[in-house]
Amino acid sequence: MSVVSTKSKTSSKEEMKEEKIYDAIIIGGGPAGLTAGIYLSRARMGTLLIEKALPGGQAILTEIIENYPGFPHGITGPELMQKMEEQAVRFGLKIEYGEVVEVKIKVGKEDKKGKEDKVKIVKINNQEYRTLTIILASGAEASKLEVPGEEELRGRGVSYCATCDAPFFKDQKIVVVGGGDTAIEEALYLTKFVREVTIIHRRDRLRATKILQERVFANKKINFAWDSVATKILGKEKVEGVLIQNKKTAEEKEISCQGVFVFVGNVPNSKFLYELIKLDQKGYILTDDNMMTSQEGIYACGDVRKKLLRQVVTACGEGATAAFAAQKYIEELKGVSYK
Ligand SMILES: Cc1cc2nc3c(=O)[nH]c(=O)nc-3n(C[C@H](O)[C@H](O)[C@H](O)COP(=O)(O)OP(=O)(O)OC[C@H]3O[C@@H](n4cnc5c(N)ncnc54)[C@H](O)[C@@H]3O)c2cc1C
Repeated sequence: MSVVSTKSKTSSKEEMKEEKIYDAIIIGGGPAGLTAGIYLSRARMGTLLIEKALPGGQAILTEIIENYPGFPHGITGPELMQKMEEQAVRFGLKIEYGEVVEVKIKVGKEDKKGKEDKVKIVKINNQEYRTLTIILASGAEASKLEVPGEEELRGRGVSYCATCDAPFFKDQKIVVVGGGDTAIEEALYLTKFVREVTIIHRRDRLRATKILQERVFANKKINFAWDSVATKILGKEKVEGVLIQNKKTAEEKEISCQGVFVFVGNVPNSKFLYELIKLDQKGYILTDDNMMTSQEGIYACGDVRKKLLRQVVTACGEGATAAFAAQKYIEELKGVSYK
């Protein structure tokens, strides 16, 4: 494993301390980060992956993944992600736990070829790691409805994860807010536990993939509140209902329920980047075709990137591209030639 070591002065007694410089630090251990980890570790790059929670990312929040190639009958999210982690670790990927709070670039001296020694610094609370390249794979998390009652009743009937919370709602009545793939998949899964599901959707038709629409319309436990938005979640100690408004007629209606599952999109985990990297208006990272961001040697992949389709398969593909691009950059910095 090729981790560069430098010596630096750390005290008045000229005591020398070893400062490791990793070839690559990957931020985030979801499908994008773990795939980048597999590629970089197989290329024998000194790589560290930093994860703030559990490896696996959002994919561990879903019961079944049916659209990741190679599993004709689907695979559970946790199982797929456990396999990816195992594969990365087998090739030598080092994983550390902590939340990255800042990324900085330290511009150093020029080398013999006139190239700047740009070491990047990744900060986790009071610890700093040094690296030649960074792969940003910090993904996204569920958007909130931002309505009264949501924050107060979170964990007391308001949920953003069906796999985590469905068993708490056995034989109860719940609502699902959203109309995309995730909302419909999760609503279908919830019917295994609950008595009745009402899907509240702001439009008069679903955005979800056709096969999911066929399943949801055939499911007798599911009904719809079309053209409607949730305006308030009702209840004192726990959820007792939801207030909805029809966007076409402005009519308000109360739906009595014990649970509200929210699947209305994502927000990218990019706040820790401050102004270092170019983002779009929503905070998604802008990259070129090789996943390079506005900063040389810093790459981004997966759900945190501005792109059309946020899925496991695209996250993995981009993780591989980012890793390969980073490897080429590192080899160039080190003057490695294959001629
Ligand atoms: C309920 C649900 C169902 C889904 N179903 C499917 C499906 O059936 N098929 C499909 O293909 N896709 C599905 N998806 C989407 C899929 O899970 C995502 O597209 C994919 O996980 C994105 O991978 P990622 O690695 O880019 O990011 P993520 O999976 O979001 O992983 C990012 C990781 O980074 C970590 N992190 C974030 N910030 C920091 C930080 N500052 N420091 C350290 N670590 C950090 C997070 O803890 C997380 O582990 C589903 C998503 C959800 C929520």
